[in-house]
Amino acid sequence: LPEQEAFDIEYWLLEEAKLQRMPRPKALAGRIALVTGGAGGIGSATAERLLKDGACVMLADIDAGAAQDVAAGLARVYGADVVRAVQMNVTDETQVIEAYATVAVEFGGVDILVSNAGIASSAPVEDTTLALWNRNMDILSTGYFLVSREAFRMLRTQGIGGSVIFVASKNGLAASPNAAAYCTAKAAEIHLARCLALEGAEAGIRVNVVNPDAVLRGSKIWSGEWLTQRASTYKTDKDGLEEMYRQRSLLKRSVLPEDIAEGVYFFASDLSAKSTGNILNVDGGNKEAFTR
Ligand code: NAD
Repeated sequence: LPEQEAFDIEYWLLEEAKLQRMPRPKALAGRIALVTGGAGGIGSATAERLLKDGACVMLADIDAGAAQDVAAGLARVYGADVVRAVQMNVTDETQVIEAYATVAVEFGGVDILVSNAGIASSAPVEDTTLALWNRNMDILSTGYFLVSREAFRMLRTQGIGGSVIFVASKNGLAASPNAAAYCTAKAAEIHLARCLALEGAEAGIRVNVVNPDAVLRGSKIWSGEWLTQRASTYKTDKDGLEEMYRQRSLLKRSVLPEDIAEGVYFFASDLSAKSTGNILNVDGGNKEAFTR
């Protein structure tokens, strides 16, 4: 190497070594996240993941008491100034708008929306009442529309881009027995995300989807009616279901709330700065995708 070039490289390496020793700012420092369904299994794990990397987090949930409890637990670890809770029924337009006003007052705005609040329901189509169909559409499709519309309004006003992440479901892509209402509502979420990715790109608003496969541990969904109905559909119990889901994945591992949180973190952070309109399936690898 010419002498000057060798000197430059050596100097650069020394500077780089110094940088390595310096404490680095956390990846989400200064960013504000709103997590719907924040009192639930995936929502609370996601909140913790974002807090760990420096974000301020507002937990929003229809169950205000449970959200306050989760926020209090996280505040003991990360500090009371970075995590709060607010009541928000995602189907109630006024409550959604008010929750964003609360985030603006408490934290100054929003940079990241994790739209995650949800339910699961199972019934053969002949037994699916209009009320059950509408409940799925209201909470999942319409709820995701309302919270992301308000996020878009706030993000556009702020003018510095942002990241919207939908926690949808593998069932939004693949049909599942006795769950037409749930699967259809989840499919609508995924398509909504694609439409919003198109609309938000110019303003630097990225919209991506994380699709969990069954997350049995930690999720409240899997302690209620859904568990009984799924167990009956597959003629097994909770342990049998977990084993079935594990065995059908390539990696033969159960998916945990923390696994979904890592996927959300990827889309929330600048690691995914060039990704929008994309879907990340967190399902342990899907055999069917290779054999069809
Ligand atoms: P969870 O029941 O533990 O958490 C869901 C949270 O959403 C609860 O705290 C609940 O109070 C809240 N919620 C329900 N209705 C609401 C409403 N109208 N407004 C605001 N909050 C509301 O379930 P989870 O497993 O953490 O699920 C989170 C998301 O992941 C859901 O959208 C679910 O459909 C999706 N998902 C879960 C699984 C799984 O197997 N657990 C698989 C695929 C997709």
